[in-house]
Amino acid sequence: MNDHSPPTPSRGCLDTPVLKERGQHEVFCGLTSIVWLHRKMQDAFFLVVGSRTCAHLLQSAAGVMIFAEPRFATAILEETDLAGMADAQEELDRVVHELLARRPDIRQLFLVGSCPSEVIKLDLAKAAERLTVAHAPNVRVLNYSGSGIETTFTQGEDACLAAMVPVLPETQARELLLVGALPDVVEEQALGLLEAIGVGPVRVLPAHTKAEEYGVGPNTVFALTQPFLGETHAALIRRGAQHIPAPMPFGEEGTTRFLEAIAAEFGIGADVVARVTEGPRARARAAIAKVSEPLRGKRIFFFPDSQLEIPLARFLTRECGMDAVEVGTPYLTRDILGPDLALLPAGPRISEGQDVDRQLARVRADKPDLTVCGLGLANPLEAEGLATKWAIELVFTPVHFYEQAADLASLFARPLRRRAALRVEAT
Ligand code: SF4
Repeated sequence: MNDHSPPTPSRGCLDTPVLKERGQHEVFCGLTSIVWLHRKMQDAFFLVVGSRTCAHLLQSAAGVMIFAEPRFATAILEETDLAGMADAQEELDRVVHELLARRPDIRQLFLVGSCPSEVIKLDLAKAAERLTVAHAPNVRVLNYSGSGIETTFTQGEDACLAAMVPVLPETQARELLLVGALPDVVEEQALGLLEAIGVGPVRVLPAHTKAEEYGVGPNTVFALTQPFLGETHAALIRRGAQHIPAPMPFGEEGTTRFLEAIAAEFGIGADVVARVTEGPRARARAAIAKVSEPLRGKRIFFFPDSQLEIPLARFLTRECGMDAVEVGTPYLTRDILGPDLALLPAGPRISEGQDVDRQLARVRADKPDLTVCGLGLANPLEAEGLATKWAIELVFTPVHFYEQAADLASLFARPLRRRAALRVEAT
């Protein structure tokens, strides 16, 4: 007898057993996110409470972006503070008072914890409360940790946004909150598409300025534009907001499904999304096809680093013709990554957490065409003959939504083209 039941929808990698790794980490510190966050929040200042190492990291990560009036700095903990010989809280108060007296444009001040401030158990939450009272109503002082001991560099943004959620006012308004610090040009494209589809009102977290802020409550629905916002997701749920699960808006397919999920929440059909996005979808598809030729049939291995790995693997396999060998992620939060995991074609090993020695052994055995990893691993792997892509570049480059889809594919195609060119020169 023939079976006429409808085919079971594919579950992609949803049921793939996950290899849990609990070993040595190779991470880049969470302070790094200040580099993109300070551009986004125009009246904010990030004061890292840390050591000279933290100051050096920030300056080298920020590179050329030292303005006449910068919006981040490091309050250096000296040896006397670290030895408990000075009252670090008093010293911090003095630094903050001087800073705010000199910079009346600051409306939000973030005290950012570091490894040294955590080692001496400097209570920055208490400091933020005390300083908020001292400087209200002009300045709001919040704190979060950017410490790099056991975190990934994208957790800095997550911790910062999560710190902002509890202080947003309560509202009963039915609004969409778009969560994640996107470059302004990308954010404008996203807002334009949502408006054309008929979704509104739309708010953005983080807002550009404190004055632009809005409320949050049981009628708020939110969509994440970055997969690494687990703490922020939990903080919004605690405020009663509802999450709209969706693939991340990477590539033509990811962006379309992301918009469809939001539209459905607002009672708008996929036909409307299809009509509104017809032009950008066609442009994205054509642009991806043009740049992804070197990626077709190539094997890719992701070390766990940025937390973008699963959505990127989905984009590269489904839209650029790559084969994923291993997709490692620091954390596998299914509430957030489920829709991307369901679309990722079954086949690759999925690993969560890091044990760098074991992962290095696997990448050497697999010999992929391209390895996505942190800065610390890239040079040794290149020396061994593997082409690599630095994961950190993916958060410094506009890669979301239709108009950036080809740029995202190009980021992966470039190291393969470079390696092919070197090979030709060497022959
Ligand atoms: S927070 Fe920790 S890991 Fe980051 S720069 Fe400072 S000391 Fe280094």
